[in-house]
Amino acid sequence: MQTNRFDGFCDACSAQVLAGSGSLTGRPGRWRTWCLACSPRPPARGRHDGWHRVPLASLDFETTGIDPLSDRVVSYALLDEPGFEIVGLVNPGVPVPAASAAVHGLTDQMLATAPGSAESIAVVADWVQTLVDREVGLVVFNASYDLTMLRAECRRHGVTEPDWSRLLVVDPFVVDWGIERGGLGRRRLTDVAAYYGVPLEDAHDATADARAARDVAVELAARHAHVGALGLVELMERQRAWYADRAEDWNAYARTRGRDLDDPAAWPLAV
Ligand SMILES: [Zn+2]
Repeated sequence: MQTNRFDGFCDACSAQVLAGSGSLTGRPGRWRTWCLACSPRPPARGRHDGWHRVPLASLDFETTGIDPLSDRVVSYALLDEPGFEIVGLVNPGVPVPAASAAVHGLTDQMLATAPGSAESIAVVADWVQTLVDREVGLVVFNASYDLTMLRAECRRHGVTEPDWSRLLVVDPFVVDWGIERGGLGRRRLTDVAAYYGVPLEDAHDATADARAARDVAVELAARHAHVGALGLVELMERQRAWYADRAEDWNAYARTRGRDLDDPAAWPLAV
């Protein structure tokens, strides 16, 4: 959801909405303008039981770029039970491109004295395995990216991988898509957090992002009973299907524009 850039009329009440004074949802060819009063907002929290009431862990990486197979982790935040957090910087052994440093603020100089990838990735992989052993769900916003990168980093540095087949993942990016079916437009972490009223002041700091992702996950479950009441194993299956739907939806558009296609089977990790 974003601010409307052009004058229009509210989709719900037909009031005139001047540029910049309302919101815009949808996608090219299917844009919808809303006045502030009618802007889409999430339903209220319900009283149902669900995974918003069980302890969830959360993980986020900052990285050298956007390719999970070739880019590297430069910082990590592993949030477990309240008060238990592991955060660290990583010297990736390769230069951090200026464009990536501009996103997260971590430069070669700042990482020069940090532990190397092999040591750091082992910390992350060991912790993820403890979640598998404890059957604690792991929140990762856009898991297909972070977890695919974690697996690639494990293999690159000879680190034992977590048992992926038993890992329970809660991906607010995918769950949100399953609920909204893409109808609310761009849904980066900052967008979804704003929509659910979750504070995120230091976006692109691994700890801030991991916290916000977990808080968003809780809101999704608390405000959408049909999703929140699912068991985590069942939720895994639903997310696989939602991710596939989202990829097909994107691909239909991407084919008309000659853009790169997404693999519908790439959740929670690329095949
Ligand atoms: Zn209106």
